Amino acid sequence: MYKINKSSREVEVECKFCKEKIVFTLPENVGENKNYPFPYRFVHGEPYHSVTVYLDKQLNIRSTEFGDSLSISCEILHNCGDEGKLGTPEFKDQVLKSWITGFITTINVFTKDREEILNRVGRILGDKYAKHFNSKDVQGIIDEFQEFWKSNDFGFVRNITKKDDQILFDIVDNLEVYYLPNMYRKLCFLTNGFLKVVIEKNLGITVSIMELQCTANGDPQCRFSMKWD
Ligand SMILES: [Zn+2]
Ligand SMILES: [Zn+2]
Repeated sequence: MYKINKSSREVEVECKFCKEKIVFTLPENVGENKNYPFPYRFVHGEPYHSVTVYLDKQLNIRSTEFGDSLSISCEILHNCGDEGKLGTPEFKDQVLKSWITGFITTINVFTKDREEILNRVGRILGDKYAKHFNSKDVQGIIDEFQEFWKSNDFGFVRNITKKDDQILFDIVDNLEVYYLPNMYRKLCFLTNGFLKVVIEKNLGITVSIMELQCTANGDPQCRFSMKWD
């Protein structure tokens, strides 16, 4: 059972996996540069799973496909094992990175406790790495965080806006969500927990960090707001 409203591009599908009626809107340019019929996948539910609609040039739905969470995860992990030549330092780096992102991705896709698990990992790591941050105020620590993230290939901290009791910043290509498709949620829990503990441990203050935008939510970057007393 499915239908599409071609003017609003709204699709209604009964998901065979969760038995729910799923409604989503196709992006405006959905058919650009595609071979027809082409698949459009919508991720939803708990645990995550997907519904795929195959569309032709006139935006008719030709067929549908329902995937469990395993197929989402397999797609992300698809490139593992193609890291290059065994034994080189680059190989070692890349394997480590694909395994870590594989674990994070799998936690996000397969568990409902993703926030609890990833935030806890972030907090433990923050506690251990806090000693590498030397600044005596939040503004200074955010600069060190920018350097830490970049030097470890975790992503690019940009657009830092500093105020007296608030800092806004973006992370472009944040490693934690870099390999995820659009999950329609903000998912940078590890990053959040890490930074929170680094600041709180070093400065003895309480800070609250909110993720306002996330690439896992379809936004162009992850955007954070930080407030403290
Ligand atoms: Zn479903
Ligand atoms: Zn994010």
